[in-house]
Amino acid sequence: MKISILHLEDGLHQFQETINRGSLHFYRDEIYPDDIQVNVDLNKFGKNITCSVEISTRAHYICDRCLAEYQKNYIESFSLLFHTGNDRLITDEANVVILSPDQKEIDLLPFIQETLILTIPMKQLCRISCKGICPGCGADLNHEKCTCAEKPVDPRWEKLIALRK
Ligand SMILES: [Zn+2]
Ligand SMILES: [Zn+2]
Repeated sequence: MKISILHLEDGLHQFQETINRGSLHFYRDEIYPDDIQVNVDLNKFGKNITCSVEISTRAHYICDRCLAEYQKNYIESFSLLFHTGNDRLITDEANVVILSPDQKEIDLLPFIQETLILTIPMKQLCRISCKGICPGCGADLNHEKCTCAEKPVDPRWEKLIALRK
């Protein structure tokens, strides 16, 4: 998502773009099966351009516990400060990008991509209370009962079990 800054006037500007999901290629990009909506509030003041970027789309996850597929509305935002020149800049802004004076446009796509990657949850759960799959019988404990206890015991183990009791 490129924004031309060549003739951009000082003040507030808004940009909207739909990024085709097919144009983003990264590891695990299948998590975002839809197009990605991007809204940018840009504020230019002299050599500085701040961008507040909001990304929204649909995220498609697979639960770590029960392997069910589930979806969530995805909304994330970040801000960036682009600064032209090599003078020292004092700012509270965490993300500062230095531009060379001959730069004609800024490209937000790498930052959007980075945000999409960094916000993939470490743990994906269809719900907090997901009971997962029984490692013994393979039952999805959210919908089925574990049948481990009902299984007939191998007669060769019966003596051992009796001993333990
Ligand atoms: Zn689950
Ligand atoms: Zn079981």
